[in-house]
Amino acid sequence: MTEVRFTGATLDRAAELRNDRLAMDRLLADPRARFVGASAGHVVVSSHEADGGVHLLRRPLDGQVNPYQPILLGLEQDGRPLFAADVSEPEAGALLEATGAGRLLSLRDAGLLLSQAEGGLAAYLVALLNWHRTHMFCSTCGSGTKVAEAGLSRRCPRCKASHFPRTDPVVIMLVADGERALLGRRIGWEPGRFSILAGFVSSGETPEEAVIREVLEESGIESRSPRYIASQPWPFPSSLMLGFEASADGGEPVPQAGEMAEVRWFTLEQITAAQQSPGQPGDGSLRLPGEVSIARSLIDAWVARGGRRL
Ligand SMILES: [Zn+2]
Repeated sequence: MTEVRFTGATLDRAAELRNDRLAMDRLLADPRARFVGASAGHVVVSSHEADGGVHLLRRPLDGQVNPYQPILLGLEQDGRPLFAADVSEPEAGALLEATGAGRLLSLRDAGLLLSQAEGGLAAYLVALLNWHRTHMFCSTCGSGTKVAEAGLSRRCPRCKASHFPRTDPVVIMLVADGERALLGRRIGWEPGRFSILAGFVSSGETPEEAVIREVLEESGIESRSPRYIASQPWPFPSSLMLGFEASADGGEPVPQAGEMAEVRWFTLEQITAAQQSPGQPGDGSLRLPGEVSIARSLIDAWVARGGRRL
């Protein structure tokens, strides 16, 4: 299977330093320390002058990182500390523009343009900042919370509750009956746009059980033998996609009311054709999910095996 985008960050998350105030002060004072910036759906990038390749822009701290509540991403491979800064405030964006050093790039585009390791770092950065931005208040007592463990968690000064970054597990599954794969079009998607089925794991449910349930709910098809293939952090805003393959014995799909506009079986030939010549919206052709998604990775891997199961 091809490498899944938004995975493969090479950063050392430095768990052992996070509760050590002296060590944190040293990292904050390190002249090699840098920060990378992101808003809810964008990252700050720059291009290499030599080859034009895009990377996350690393800049000196220069007051952009709160020394009392720093968000440390970790240590780079050369030991350089790397912090995170939220650039969603208008003044931060203005500063960025004024310095002319970087530009905002949507995370989806970044997933395609950045190297594998930089894409993994971008997903980590956006997911962590999204969580901090939306968890300023304690869910137990309602008081304001503070950054703890150098950004790994938040703590309530009043009731002392600790809060940890939330990740929502989602199963996404390629269901095949031999030579055909089951694809669905959600309500609101333009005609021709299809992907494999997906849904949130419920409370008290294993991912394997969620696969069987979601396929039945969204398509009326009974599937079996779900097998885990790969995963992908998907920080839009905080999901973890768990990729599966499952088998079925064909049958006529029935799209779930209120959710799915269409669910259909597509042959290996139809899907291969859509890979080779992606159509335009409105031309009636099958259009597969973008290459940034694990949905596409699972489809491509299935096609590469000629539709056979692993
Ligand atoms: Zn509290």
